[in-house]
Amino acid sequence: MIRAGIYARISSDREGDNLAIGRQLADCEELAGKRGWEVVERYVDSDLSAWSGKVRPEYRRLLEEIEARLIDAVVVYHADRLHRHPKELEEFIDLCQRTETKLATVSGDLDLSTHEGQLMARITGAVAKKSSDDMSRRIRRKHQDIALAGRPSGGGTRPFGYESDHRTARPAEAAVIRECAARALAGDSLRSICIDLNDREVGTVQGKRWSPQTLRRMLMSARISGQREHHGEIVAAGDWDAIITPVETHRLRAKLGDPDRRTNRSARRYLLARLLRCGHCEMKLLARPRDDGSRRYVCASGPSGGCGKTTIVADALELFIVDAVLHRLDSPELAAALNGRQDDPEGAGWQAEIEQAQEQLDELAAMWGSNEISRSEWLKARATIQQRQDTARKRLAALNRTSVLSEHLGNAVGLRERWAGLTLTRQQQIVAAVLDHVVVGPGRRGFNKFDPARLDPVWRA
Ligand SMILES: [Zn+2]
Repeated sequence: MIRAGIYARISSDREGDNLAIGRQLADCEELAGKRGWEVVERYVDSDLSAWSGKVRPEYRRLLEEIEARLIDAVVVYHADRLHRHPKELEEFIDLCQRTETKLATVSGDLDLSTHEGQLMARITGAVAKKSSDDMSRRIRRKHQDIALAGRPSGGGTRPFGYESDHRTARPAEAAVIRECAARALAGDSLRSICIDLNDREVGTVQGKRWSPQTLRRMLMSARISGQREHHGEIVAAGDWDAIITPVETHRLRAKLGDPDRRTNRSARRYLLARLLRCGHCEMKLLARPRDDGSRRYVCASGPSGGCGKTTIVADALELFIVDAVLHRLDSPELAAALNGRQDDPEGAGWQAEIEQAQEQLDELAAMWGSNEISRSEWLKARATIQQRQDTARKRLAALNRTSVLSEHLGNAVGLRERWAGLTLTRQQQIVAAVLDHVVVGPGRRGFNKFDPARLDPVWRA
């Protein structure tokens, strides 16, 4: 049996770098489990920065126990949790080779016994080193050039929310941006926000009326959270005023860029579209009104591949499901499940991860640019970091679902009263946050009324 030690560290050296230690440990444990390794020891350094040069007692203990052959493998969240000084890394590589110690990282594997693995570790280490030498100054200038090139020449029109220096926030417009962002995140449609803005005669920079397209473009731009964007990708932090937070920008992008929003409008009159499955063939039921206009969900045979056997009337079904969802919102189990998630500074942790990965990508590109590494080394290293960043992006997007519910938790009575007044989008979000799907079983022959016994709900939480 391979005996593994887990190393975790929280550094307080910069804001946002606060992946909960519990989370690091849990992920490392899971990885060890996948490998079939037995976790025999945990080494945790907290609140000590690898940069401050202070001694990390648990890291030293880890090295001693590797040396003493008490453990055969090390599991760590990121390679950069282990060391940030090249000298430390070289020592570590040396030690691992001598003792044939394995290393696994949650963010992707590093095999220090191979040349490639060592190179990866050196690159990760090198980019973690916040150097202020000529090279990074050159890069900063280059990025500025890129950002400037992305702007209309000659300064161009100022962006909404900012003064003509493109940097200083204009308080009144910034307030409008914050309001729109909050409303969009809460599920208000862009169209309804625009109507409201136009009613209040809040014009665009050109003094025109807002359209959903203009509003979407503004809310999805990284600029308003003080971030630099290049070809639609967020490339770095900017040095101008942020009006909303980077987390909000990520949520807005996830939400407004969501292909679900572009489905045809008639389908959205159906609260449970996409949430119902056929009990015979497991295909999704589709919204299909009868010729007389009465609303139904059906398993459609034909190109979509359904069996065509299941049909259920929409009105009674929707009333019943809404009732069940509201009831569920008051259940202690759901409150516990969601609270657990909200206390965790997870969103900030994933955001920090995304930013850190971006920093590494930038620096990596610069290393290639200055011929410190070859193109293939660059591509290889980039793939690993991008993978980490993608994972973090996905986790962040998944958090949105939870936040939809936060204000309604344990307050189903209040929500019940307001339910009819909510937009369909908002209703769908609340239902989908609680309910994964409902399997609709066969109807009883000759039984024409709505029959709840046909329904088998699968809850999310
Ligand atoms: Zn079917």
